[in-house]
Amino acid sequence: SAVVLDGTGLARSIRERVAAGAAELIGVGVAPRLAVVVATDDEGAGWYVRSLSGAARRVGIACDVVELGADADPETIRHTLLRLSGDDTVHGIILQTPLPDGVRVEDLAADIAAEKDVDGANPLSAGRLAAGLPAYPPATAAAVLDLLDHHGIALAGRSAVVVGRSLVVGKPTAQLLLQRDATVSICHRHTKDLAQHTREADVLVVAVGRIGLVRAEHVAPGAIVVDVGTNTAPDGSLAGDVDGGVAAVAGGLTPVPGGVGPVTTALLLEHTVRSARSHG
Ligand code: NAD
Repeated sequence: SAVVLDGTGLARSIRERVAAGAAELIGVGVAPRLAVVVATDDEGAGWYVRSLSGAARRVGIACDVVELGADADPETIRHTLLRLSGDDTVHGIILQTPLPDGVRVEDLAADIAAEKDVDGANPLSAGRLAAGLPAYPPATAAAVLDLLDHHGIALAGRSAVVVGRSLVVGKPTAQLLLQRDATVSICHRHTKDLAQHTREADVLVVAVGRIGLVRAEHVAPGAIVVDVGTNTAPDGSLAGDVDGGVAAVAGGLTPVPGGVGPVTTALLLEHTVRSARSHG
């Protein structure tokens, strides 16, 4: 059965590196600071923001959570992002999703200064990533690649299939896999016969947000499966997009929780320290 592609060990080593970097910066008078702008009362988002700000403080990064309320209008969000972008003491800015109804992250994230866009949300960052220019990739996409590298999974010349095409996860993950010379396909909600495509994958990345979407019949024997999904199961626990039966077929599988999630958080912190180092 599948090797468990754990993310917690990798996340710990990234956090140790980040803590050392933060301490060094503080020693020269630069206090790394992350700002998280929140305009939702979504429970999952609240849980995530608390865990992120706790993780930041534990590695020596100050974290300001700017609560605008679930009924914040786009102009308030925009002014907040512009104010933080112009604040020299802030090195990383995250616009938390979900946003109020009718407000799209890609419309507002353009107001996050590119050099502080530690979660790669600004369309400019997405364009630079696609063009192969320096930019912060969305932390989740970067986490998928770091996890594959950490476990020694080869990518060049291999078939990679990404299920999901969101701006924050699916698309940038496909870009990063392409940069590493994988042959990449992207599936989405309009894909006919998902299993026909996913069974071609040496490396299968699933980022949809539906419990049990990918089952054993979707996976080639020995394939590496990365489960990005974080869904709340009926019993309140955290569940991925990949059915447990996949473990009997796959060669490797990331757990949920304990796979992509902790690496994502650690990389957001790493991007913040990197930003403080270059612009502090
Ligand atoms: P999204 O809703 O923006 O995008 C979902 C994508 O799935 C869309 O591109 C859609 O076309 C596709 N899709 C929907 N139904 C499908 C189907 N039946 N078959 C194939 N494709 C289908 O979601 P997102 O923001 O990309 O997040 C995806 C999942 O990843 C969610 O569970 C989210 O909670 C999780 N997530 C996890 C992390 C992490 O750090 N682990 C970070 C971000 C998001």
